[in-house]
Amino acid sequence: MDSHAITRASTDFGRMHRNVPSAVFRPPSTNSISAFIKLSYESVEPFPITARGHAHSLHGQAQAGNGVVIEMMSLNSGAINNENANSFGCSSEEKCYIDVGGGELWIDVLRKTLKHGLAPRSWTDYLYLTVGGTLSNGGISGQSFRHGPQISNVLELDVITGKGETQTCSRTNNSELFNAALGGLGQFGIITRARIILEKAPKMVRWVRLLYSDFSGFTRDQELLVSSHGGDGDKENEGFDYVEGFVMMADKNDGNSNWRSSSFQFPHHIATNNTILYCLELCKYYNDRSAKHHVDEELEGLMSKLHYIPRMMASKDVTYMAFLNRVRHGEIKLRSRGLWNVPHPWLCLFVPASRILEFHDVVFKGILSRNNTSGPLLVYPMKRSRWDDRMSAIVPNEEVFYSVGLLRSAVYDWEFYEEQNREICKACERRKLGVKMYLPYYTEESEWRRHFGAKWSVFLERKSRFDPRGILGTGQRIFPFPLLTSNLKSTALI
Ligand code: FAD
Repeated sequence: MDSHAITRASTDFGRMHRNVPSAVFRPPSTNSISAFIKLSYESVEPFPITARGHAHSLHGQAQAGNGVVIEMMSLNSGAINNENANSFGCSSEEKCYIDVGGGELWIDVLRKTLKHGLAPRSWTDYLYLTVGGTLSNGGISGQSFRHGPQISNVLELDVITGKGETQTCSRTNNSELFNAALGGLGQFGIITRARIILEKAPKMVRWVRLLYSDFSGFTRDQELLVSSHGGDGDKENEGFDYVEGFVMMADKNDGNSNWRSSSFQFPHHIATNNTILYCLELCKYYNDRSAKHHVDEELEGLMSKLHYIPRMMASKDVTYMAFLNRVRHGEIKLRSRGLWNVPHPWLCLFVPASRILEFHDVVFKGILSRNNTSGPLLVYPMKRSRWDDRMSAIVPNEEVFYSVGLLRSAVYDWEFYEEQNREICKACERRKLGVKMYLPYYTEESEWRRHFGAKWSVFLERKSRFDPRGILGTGQRIFPFPLLTSNLKSTALI
């Protein structure tokens, strides 16, 4: 057995959880995955199987203690590429698409589609994540307010269920499996192919940052920008294409562990140790030099409505590729300083817009201000109507909600940050803020039940249908292994 593969599969980007698998399987084809799952499913003593994308999970979700980890990225290599992947086409709804393998990295999807002047329209901030990995969660970034998360931009999937059956599914064909798998935390099947919606790729991006000294002005402007957007039916050139934002607090490493600290220059330095600043990040896509003039004009109009600190605006023009792949530069810098492969006690939350000011007071001004932090602190709005409630992903029960990402790194003291994360979650619960966790990691069944709320019984029903022996995705720690029908029944009744 390849001991390096075992070591690799025992850990993840979070570097806080370690579960040694019994074996690592590098599938030579998608059929072999199906045969392998069938072997476990039909066995008297089934064994757990977890798909591993790029293992950029934070809390052991892509691990399989005492089970088998399937390395999905091994399907990408040359001749054994997924049989059905990488074909372009247009659907009956006139949507262009590409079929990609579940183990492909988004950066490779971007490179392939750009060659044809096309690109997916919904992204994650970082592109070295696999298609199957982000579609099992949601896949969010500054385009989500407009196009929805990545799971809202999929037309069709091939999924191998926990019975080893390969099924093709879409919104209209076998929709229960389609909805289960998208945002399904790897619980219902292994995604081997996804048909992703494409749009004409812009060539250039005007990338703007604006500084705010007060949080309410910052969020008011963010909400103004996302609410003035009607969505898919919009004219091509209307509004911003990307809206994000982040909080700037005293940083333990002087910003050295923050991949967002970049070459943006503000007119003068106004941050002091005790100031919290807020940075709104906006983008406008365009195609060529002649369009640049229109971009200037339109941006002037849009920005005149915003309330940032006068003159605290910086912008630059970069290629679409450079913009989408922006985190890579930060990664390379952090790697060179030995600050990339360190523990990452991240906490990602969705906070209803109606409670974001209270959240800010309790978390940013309260809990986080007690000590210096390190890593990006993202805050940006999304719209519930861009998510499909039939899918497994969970979002707050309010049209506008914020994605809050406390993406901290900790060289020595990750337990301290994890404890602080628990304190934040408890404070949100006590105040009944209606917060939902993104990239959830719970250990107690009662916590999962609370997380899924009214969708818990649907989740259980889908589990009993598509993975009745609970073979898949044990690293998420949602169900006991092996799963007995009585487990599903009793848990549903509680
Ligand atoms: P893995 O960690 O390998 O797997 C994640 C889960 O999906 C596991 O449960 C695994 O079993 C399951 N899985 C993997 N492949 C498949 C498959 N083919 N079929 C079924 N289940 C599968 N997320 C965002 O939404 N937006 C961001 O901007 C963003 N930025 C990030 C930046 C960094 C630096 C990092 C480390 C993470 C970021 N994430 C972001 C989180 C990321 O989307 C998730 O951690 C995602 O799961 C990572 O993808 P992966 O390929 O590494 O998946």
